[in-house]
Amino acid sequence: MVTGSLSMSYRSAVLTDGFTSKRTRKRLVSGLRSKGITDEKVLLAIDAIQRDLFIEDALKTRAYEDTALPIGYRQTISQPFIVALMSQILRSNRDKLGRVLEVGTGSGYQAAVLSGFSEQVYTIERIQQLLDAAKLRLAPLGINNISFRHGDGASGWAINGPFDGIILTAAPAVVPTILFDQLAEGGILVAPEGKEQNQTLVHWKKTRGTVRRFESVPVVFVPMVSGVIS
Ligand code: SAH
Repeated sequence: MVTGSLSMSYRSAVLTDGFTSKRTRKRLVSGLRSKGITDEKVLLAIDAIQRDLFIEDALKTRAYEDTALPIGYRQTISQPFIVALMSQILRSNRDKLGRVLEVGTGSGYQAAVLSGFSEQVYTIERIQQLLDAAKLRLAPLGINNISFRHGDGASGWAINGPFDGIILTAAPAVVPTILFDQLAEGGILVAPEGKEQNQTLVHWKKTRGTVRRFESVPVVFVPMVSGVIS
């Protein structure tokens, strides 16, 4: 059983889909549980979001497999387990997240999941077409706490900080230090770090102005790239 509460607008936005995908999502959620995801609010958010809406037609039948899938422009929507794990890490210091920054909007799926347990999500994408497609997907869901920006997320979004959580969904060789300045006291930054086949999921916790680094599992993400594509 998934328990807990999400905002009204979030619930009414996401509870309108068909029965079949609801059932397959329940299976996905119980799979995530058996892989060690324990945060009920994260599981509830994943349970609430129709991942098939974020996946192109030819691959829709695979939407609830626990796997990354292509979204065009040589980018991928992350594996649900990794979406859940990064979300769980972000929430490990606070039950309520205020502002959260995501670098790498991609399909918009992770942003949609984050919106279920954050006051406001700020998401940045360097490829204009991907950003536009993500906005189009999210609009009919009625989720109204995501702000979008076309840009290079390596320098963050200082004017909206400090953030309780920062999540990078593309891998930098080394996390840009400027992002730590935008992290709130007690905040967590989670990111895949490293080159190509040699990446690790890492996170930093900010306490009394200084950050401490933690490592979790090996991961494979697309690289963080500088500059924008219009
Ligand atoms: N969170 C996404 C997964 C995105 S894949 C989802 O849920 O679907 C990583 C994304 O990061 C790609 O769309 C890529 O274009 C973007 N990206 C890579 N480098 C970036 C940068 N410097 N700034 C912003 N976006 C970036």
